[in-house]
Amino acid sequence: MTVSDSIRLQGDIDRAIAIDAFPRTAVLTCDIEPDYGARTGTAALLEEEQPLNDVLAFCAAQKLPLSCFVVTSLLQGNKGGICVLRAANLDVHAHSHTHNTQQYRVSSAEEMQKAQDVFSAFFGRPSLGYRAPQGVLYPGDIQALSGAGYAFDSSVFPSRRRGLFDYRALPTEPWMWRGGVLELPFAALAHSRRRVTVSMLKLRGRRFWQRQLREPAHWPHVFVIDSHLHDFFTPGNFHHLPLAYRLAYGRRKEQGFALLSWLVELLKGQGYRFVDMTSLCRELRARK
Ligand SMILES: [Zn+2]
Repeated sequence: MTVSDSIRLQGDIDRAIAIDAFPRTAVLTCDIEPDYGARTGTAALLEEEQPLNDVLAFCAAQKLPLSCFVVTSLLQGNKGGICVLRAANLDVHAHSHTHNTQQYRVSSAEEMQKAQDVFSAFFGRPSLGYRAPQGVLYPGDIQALSGAGYAFDSSVFPSRRRGLFDYRALPTEPWMWRGGVLELPFAALAHSRRRVTVSMLKLRGRRFWQRQLREPAHWPHVFVIDSHLHDFFTPGNFHHLPLAYRLAYGRRKEQGFALLSWLVELLKGQGYRFVDMTSLCRELRARK
């Protein structure tokens, strides 16, 4: 597999966004996608309304805005989770059309456009933002994003995932791509470049993260948290996952909400405010 690297993408960066005088801001995002990113071939967690409703109840109790990124092929049919997504009038954006990573490698630009078309037809408005499957950006994707009418992208982990990407040389704070699309990268720590996602909180556990997060100066000023329904619930087909994923996702299976709560309190304690992606995009785009 090709490793997508920082060097190629650095050439596509226009400029950094000045965030010194910007308030410390966090966003909770949830990817609405097939179970385990399509690794089981099912979307069981979207069949019923309950999983997404429970996430919304958690957010309401914590007074957290939620932004969702939806795989637009899932908008077809009448899935309970998708009905919730539409009825709740959430802050929703596109997360590819198929999330089929093998196919996506050779058709990412088409997927960006198709996702925008299907999203617009379903919601009656274009998607403001885009998120690529597995956080990988292929050559030509930056131009394709603006061509498909997205105002922001939130795909980049300024971190490394072996065999998939190495974006450690990219900034940990938002920047503007050439062509005018804003990047709102996922949270990664400045000193270790570790990704702070709900999946990673569960994989490594609280004690590990207490050490990693000891120094708030290392936290990104704009803190975008990634999560999935499978971080909070376990679908019945869990045993269909390849062994390596079963081992990874089997760690602290029941602790998704508790660990996210812990992180949210930590962030609030350091003065972070929580907004949704649309507000963050508009506020940062208004800054010159
Ligand atoms: Zn995904």
